[in-house]
Amino acid sequence: MQNCTDAVVPARRIESTSSNLLCNTAATLAVLGGDSAFAETLHVGKPNLPDRQRFMQRLESVLDSYRLTNFGPQVVEFEQSVAELAGAAHCVATCNATTGLELAIRALGMAGEVIVPSFTFVADPAALAWQGITPVFCDVDPHTHCVDVARVEAAITARTSGILAVHLWGNICAVEALQEIADRHRIKLLFDAAHAFGCTVGKRAVGSFGDAEVFSFHATKFINAFEGGAIVTNNAELAQRLRFMTNFGFSAEDEVSHLGVNGKMSEASAAMGLTSLEAMSDIIQHNRRNHEAYVRGLEFVPGVRVLQRDPAEQHNYHYIVAEIDTAATGLSRDQLVAMLRLENVMARRYFHPGCHRMPPYRKFHADAGCALPVTEALSQNVLVLPTGLAVSAADVSLLTSRIAVAVQQAARVRAELARCQDPRLPTFTTE
Ligand SMILES: *Cc1c(COP(=O)(O)O)cnc(C)c1O
Repeated sequence: MQNCTDAVVPARRIESTSSNLLCNTAATLAVLGGDSAFAETLHVGKPNLPDRQRFMQRLESVLDSYRLTNFGPQVVEFEQSVAELAGAAHCVATCNATTGLELAIRALGMAGEVIVPSFTFVADPAALAWQGITPVFCDVDPHTHCVDVARVEAAITARTSGILAVHLWGNICAVEALQEIADRHRIKLLFDAAHAFGCTVGKRAVGSFGDAEVFSFHATKFINAFEGGAIVTNNAELAQRLRFMTNFGFSAEDEVSHLGVNGKMSEASAAMGLTSLEAMSDIIQHNRRNHEAYVRGLEFVPGVRVLQRDPAEQHNYHYIVAEIDTAATGLSRDQLVAMLRLENVMARRYFHPGCHRMPPYRKFHADAGCALPVTEALSQNVLVLPTGLAVSAADVSLLTSRIAVAVQQAARVRAELARCQDPRLPTFTTE
């Protein structure tokens, strides 16, 4: 086992010996020369595999039918299930959410400028820029991490054609306030709901807000279809147009009435998506237990705050998001990421460094004159921790106890990280 302290500090037990977790908590941190907490690496977004047999049965029926794609029965059933769960009248399944966003952006006639958060996955500004639209980056609310409504309004110009807002981590945007702004300025409102499948706000499911909402069913998401996405809307005419556009613009045999792409979902993906949906309540229950274990385990760790979920609403609990206050922890978010890598935990720093700082998007923000202080802070402080079916509540207890010990011994952890050469360390710790 690699370690960073052979020559220096002998393993030292920490004082207290009265709790159950003790054999864990008392263990020396890997960065201080102990063994890694986990033999197998824990990942953020390891796929939630549903029942294998059920999936294989569906796949057999796909093969038997020779209907591998082009709106076959698996896709039709998947669209019906998603529409129902999302409380939307129409659902158009797509090959992934990014293509779904591009299709929705085009079908809604967005052009010129669209307001979008910078603190999100790069797919959002990418989908806009790919359509020749200028993404106008807007700051987020420090509590929900969703677009700040006042900032949205301030960013509207004569060229603004729409708002692309993101229900980040399954936290729901201020949907009514955004709709009011969109109506008043006669612009479109599209939601990236990639994180929010299965979530509610005011008991209403995510899926029927704005002009349309887009889900992702990528392998790393809560419900997966290998790769997949879906556009949901209550607008029948829009749904029809989107359906044509996902299939080269065909509106009938040999009849192309729209500009289109190939954005269809395959039958194999829909078979996975349907099997995954069957496991939805089990996954939520599992995630919720993990979330509670994280909250318990980190509750008394100074400077580590886990984003809470409103217990009155339904939530998928798919993202465990912690904000690190370095002044209180004595360790930066990046130092915690590094320390966890040595424990074989691949915690992640989403959405570092913010889309506005990425080379293809800097030019859109160069002279925008709108500061993004919350985005800047969050991209330095947000730590995303592993959960999902591959992570047990016992794993979470062990993981959180390692964080607690690291914060207790922050000075030593900092010193060891500074001289550590372990190849598992992320390159940015030496930046
Ligand atoms: C995953 C994700 C996407 C892209 O989804 P794909 O299905 O991989 O194209 C878009 N937005 C957010 C916020 C995401 O997390």
